[in-house]
Amino acid sequence: MADQKIKVAKFGGSSLADAAQFRKVKEIVNADPARRYIVPSAPGKRDSGDEKVTDLLYRCYEEASSGGRYRRILNKIRGRYQEIIDDLGLELSLDREFDLIERAFLEHAGAEYAASRGEYLNGILLAAWLGYEFVDAAGGIRFDRNGNFEDERTNFFLGDRLRKVERAVIPGFYGSDDAGNIHTFSRGGSDVTGAVVARAVGADLYENWTDVPGFLLADPGIVDNPKKIDVMTFGELRELSYRGATVLHEEAVYPVRREGISIHIRNTNHPEQSGTVICRSILPEETVPVTGIAGKKNFTGISIAKNRMNAEVGFCKRLLEAFEENGIVCEHLPSGIDTISVILPRDEFLAKQENIMDSLHRHLRPDKIEIDEDMALVTVVGKGMRSVCGIAARFFTALGDAGVNIKMIDMGSNEINCTIGVSNRDFETAIRALYEALAR
Ligand code: ASP
Repeated sequence: MADQKIKVAKFGGSSLADAAQFRKVKEIVNADPARRYIVPSAPGKRDSGDEKVTDLLYRCYEEASSGGRYRRILNKIRGRYQEIIDDLGLELSLDREFDLIERAFLEHAGAEYAASRGEYLNGILLAAWLGYEFVDAAGGIRFDRNGNFEDERTNFFLGDRLRKVERAVIPGFYGSDDAGNIHTFSRGGSDVTGAVVARAVGADLYENWTDVPGFLLADPGIVDNPKKIDVMTFGELRELSYRGATVLHEEAVYPVRREGISIHIRNTNHPEQSGTVICRSILPEETVPVTGIAGKKNFTGISIAKNRMNAEVGFCKRLLEAFEENGIVCEHLPSGIDTISVILPRDEFLAKQENIMDSLHRHLRPDKIEIDEDMALVTVVGKGMRSVCGIAARFFTALGDAGVNIKMIDMGSNEINCTIGVSNRDFETAIRALYEALAR
């Protein structure tokens, strides 16, 4: 039955930046009785010159804990909430909360505690506005002493707590350890809370309300007016996020993916728009060859040549060991018979250059090592590529016609992605050419 459905709705900072946004959120929540569990971020920027409350909190704490002048910043934060309370006409005072927060700052409660108060206070406010119960994330969302998120314990405790509540607001971004110390996820982590709550309550859908129409096929800073992605799989999302598409926190996928709960990215400012659905599998008729194009600049390619490398048992193992002992993850490993290349982020290479070269010489005794410090990676993602003939031909033709020299090609064996290495200066040209050839 429709009314037994459960939706978790997470609202980002810009969706809750002021009273006008709070009104939109209430309208959205009330429009569907299935929206029973609501996860807010802290108030975000109201315009491009504004500051996020989370940033103010970090700054305020830094000043307060080092004997600096924190009061002006604290008052600014207080003002942000008070303005919303007054404008909405809520009978709510956060005075006691702010007294506790000030005292905790002066007693060095920690930067994570400080940052978490943005969501905590917004949760209290939103719960009062919606008439929902406020359920503190401390206690439900569990971390260990070192600040590592504990997924199974969280699922147990939070599930148990929320089962008893018909409608609740659970603040995003933080949780606590057994001793009650607050820990946060990394920045943007309210997305993760939303996913964790969705898993704990066995939601039918995880709605992530933000200020963009959804995922776009390419970066709008590079391609004019790119199309929106209507639907994609979790695997495709992972590939695109990894290569720089940033709508959703990377860690938000795991809790819901394992349970088969779809994510629906939606626009708080345009709830009539269809957004982007991310799900486990896509119907054949919905499958398009290319789902999205993303990329990042500034990689280094290290090419190692050694005669008869192909016959040397354990060569790849020793190669990977050379990187492992320097704590480096290899992005791509394209290979020939007597050569193999490793692609890694340039700043990581530069920071450990000498040690890496030393390890490579020691482990591999190569004939030659060549370094290419000018590489950008562009990835074309699409589950449909596997079954459509001629896609690769189209994108190599497009790059050739645009005068882009290809330095490296790596196609995942699952054929969900094809990554191309180009010069940094060709990065934007390559993305535009690929978009024109594959998506227009
Ligand atoms: N408020 C936190 C941040 O700015 C978390 C979030 O918004 O998801 O990173």
